[in-house]
Amino acid sequence: MPVVLMKPRQNVRGFTYRGIVLEDAPAWSGGRRRPVGWPELRAIVQAQQPVLSAPEPGCVRLCAVCRGPSGAGSYRCFQCDLHEQSAAGSLADLVVPVAYAIKGAPHARRLWQYKSPRMSQAAAAGAGVILRAMLLVFLRDHGSCLWQAAGAPGGTHVAGRPTHVAVVPTARGRPGEHPLRALVHGYLAAPWTGLTARPGGEQVRDLDPERFTAGPVPGARVLLVDDTWTTGSSAQSAAMALRAAGARSVITVVLGRHLGGAADEAGLGPAGMPFRLGSCAVHQARAVGSRP
Ligand SMILES: [Zn+2]
Ligand SMILES: [Zn+2]
Repeated sequence: MPVVLMKPRQNVRGFTYRGIVLEDAPAWSGGRRRPVGWPELRAIVQAQQPVLSAPEPGCVRLCAVCRGPSGAGSYRCFQCDLHEQSAAGSLADLVVPVAYAIKGAPHARRLWQYKSPRMSQAAAAGAGVILRAMLLVFLRDHGSCLWQAAGAPGGTHVAGRPTHVAVVPTARGRPGEHPLRALVHGYLAAPWTGLTARPGGEQVRDLDPERFTAGPVPGARVLLVDDTWTTGSSAQSAAMALRAAGARSVITVVLGRHLGGAADEAGLGPAGMPFRLGSCAVHQARAVGSRP
């Protein structure tokens, strides 16, 4: 794992980015690592740009919740519609994917590689460096877009940045710190709030308010992060648990909205919907919330 050094705080729009990342030492450097800052983090993301795609703001072909394909004339995709029918008002205020994770494409691969025990430590760490850069740069550049969009009329979000960060627990309750939290927790100053999977919950695939429990967070505005959104059932179950624990609002940011291999033909690949550092799914959003 890359070593993390602490240095004077840098503001991440609503968070405090506390660390500097040391890039992995190239073979010729004799093992010396070089500290990197925002321009370097952004360059890491920029290098991935040609192979990444991301939801375009205001695109009517996309589900208003998860930004996956919604089907002709539909406001939400099938899954998000089911969730809304069964739990309107207790789901996340806003869901924003950083990028699409297209089956078989580099971003989708990295989203399992960074936490896979089958990968070598170096390969997992290499995937982690890119994912961490993507999440930190996104929060720094587009955090204010999120807080604004979630506070739009119709949403329950109270204006202002999140007071807590949480991560969606993994399906199989692995011991130790969640790999995504381990990746970024040294860089975000907002306090983390714990979510735990109830025993037996790993069999559950549907939306279930009982699947997770959260520590008490009365009145909190929670930023909920996850690596991959497939059906959204686990992330939305986690949002429900946070609300049951008193959270006033929940904004969910996922590194990858999973899409099947036909995403390119559907115009959701890098050619049809390119990832842009300067944009996000709710960029300069006026009233784009998760509900009509
Ligand atoms: Zn959806
Ligand atoms: Zn934005």
